[in-house]
Amino acid sequence: MALRNIIEDGHPSLGMVCKPVKKVGDHEREILDDLTETMRNAEGVGLAAPQVGILRRMVVIEVDDQLYQLVNPVITESEGDQFEYEGCLSVPGMRGRVHRPAKVKVSALDRNGEPREYEGEGLLARAFCHELDHLDGILYNSKCEDYERITDPVEEDEE
Ligand SMILES: [Zn+2]
Repeated sequence: MALRNIIEDGHPSLGMVCKPVKKVGDHEREILDDLTETMRNAEGVGLAAPQVGILRRMVVIEVDDQLYQLVNPVITESEGDQFEYEGCLSVPGMRGRVHRPAKVKVSALDRNGEPREYEGEGLLARAFCHELDHLDGILYNSKCEDYERITDPVEEDEE
């Protein structure tokens, strides 16, 4: 595994729509592991492949000590609404509130290429939505409110 460089807001790769992964093999597993190591090193709760300059539909999320490594993820169901602060490892030092579903279901391939279903609410639902947005070139600050500089970074969950 290796740490990757996280690119920041303003880099053109963050605005691109990522291509689906055709086959999950050793190369893709290596990317998922690098994303995981990079996310943990940055103390984030999620990281998407385009944030390290790889324009493929892969994300990692870690919430409540549960690690999710998702390939070609799609939100299949969503319900309710939440309006909470989000941060992003590609937008350091900032946060903003975003309307997200309270609960989502996601289908994706796992690291072995097997189709899986995932369910998340609260922070996990926000993380699914935030990371999947990255795959379509969308940063949370393009649709947030109360956008502001973080004064107490310790309390933030950066994705
Ligand atoms: Zn992000």
